[in-house]
Amino acid sequence: MSDFLIYLPFLAAAAIVFIYALHRVRCPDCGASLPKFYSPLRKTQRMWRAGGYLCAQCGCETDTAGRRVTADTPLPPIPVRQWALVGVLLMVALGLLTAGWFIAGRAVAAPPVVAAPVVALPQQAPPVAPVN
Ligand SMILES: [Zn+2]
Repeated sequence: MSDFLIYLPFLAAAAIVFIYALHRVRCPDCGASLPKFYSPLRKTQRMWRAGGYLCAQCGCETDTAGRRVTADTPLPPIPVRQWALVGVLLMVALGLLTAGWFIAGRAVAAPPVVAAPVVALPQQAPPVAPVN
């Protein structure tokens, strides 16, 4: 049972990826299934900023909800709050990693305990019996 619990986070991540892969968005023009991943060279400025899809068959560009985006659709504003939150979370993670690194380094860098060398005590030779 405890072995199963070890794999639980990985199973949860796999389930999330599986659910994401099952979610399909259709092109509003031709009805083709829109691909999940794109080459960074094919992404438009809007896709970089706000996400969305680009139909491989007809070239129709949609937003993340699958609605058609035209050329005169204004670009959404840059999500300043989201980027600020990402920056703050990265700084917190960096601080926690640094603190953990220092704590672990202090524990490792503790002075090594050196055992006193074992010195054999001199033994007295057994008395020699007188020879007569
Ligand atoms: Zn299409």
